[in-house]
Amino acid sequence: MKKVIVGGNWKMNKNVQEAQTLARQLCDRLSDVNFADIFICPPFVDLYPINIILREKESKIMLGAQNMHYEPKGAFTGEISADMIKSAGGKIVVLGHSERRHIFGEDDEYINKKVASALKNELIPLLCIGELLEERKAGKTEEVIESQLRGSLNGIEIDDPEKILIAYEPVWAIGTGITATPEQAQEAQKFVRKVLADMFGQSIADGIRILYGGSVKPDNAEALISQPEVDGLFVGGASLDAESFEKIVRATK
Ligand code: PEP
Repeated sequence: MKKVIVGGNWKMNKNVQEAQTLARQLCDRLSDVNFADIFICPPFVDLYPINIILREKESKIMLGAQNMHYEPKGAFTGEISADMIKSAGGKIVVLGHSERRHIFGEDDEYINKKVASALKNELIPLLCIGELLEERKAGKTEEVIESQLRGSLNGIEIDDPEKILIAYEPVWAIGTGITATPEQAQEAQKFVRKVLADMFGQSIADGIRILYGGSVKPDNAEALISQPEVDGLFVGGASLDAESFEKIVRATK
């Protein structure tokens, strides 16, 4: 039985002081939770200060970064490497988020290099995939998901399903307040698993945790996590407030 996993994507929110306050609140509110794995992905500058708090509080909350470069070091102004994330306490790295794909022009080939580098450096890549509204309306959801999976995971070998996470995040549901229905999430994630099974074999695919993301809120979290193919939730806006993130985590019990 896979353990539920719930993550918060803070995006470009929270300066160091604000991030420390939220991290302390989450440690205190969620200290008793053992039914779910929890992670938070703050901006880069907040990683190390939060890591100190997580250690002081002996919290089980894991730390994740929102992006990284695939090269180990060098002349890449403004970028950060897998090793830097690890040295700041990061265990997970979000790759291919729709905002990276659509605002910063990242494509599957580029994301693929990052996935390979994360795995090589023993960081858990959280690969995000999902279709645009036009693509869904045109009946292309499965085609888009399959091509993102095959492109971003091209040449990747996975011998242990715990080494990677996938988030299905329909772009039309991110930050819009429009959530996929639990049935839409289930249907898409079932298809994600089918493609993963074709790529890595059924038993690896069955073990990979697939999260749903897109306007998850305290009042829809339970219905979404009740779907058999939804193994976890990836939360943007509603993870910026300790009370609402706590409610979402507790809804998954
Ligand atoms: C996200 O950014 O991954 C996300 C799911 O955002 P929101 O919950 O705000 O839709």
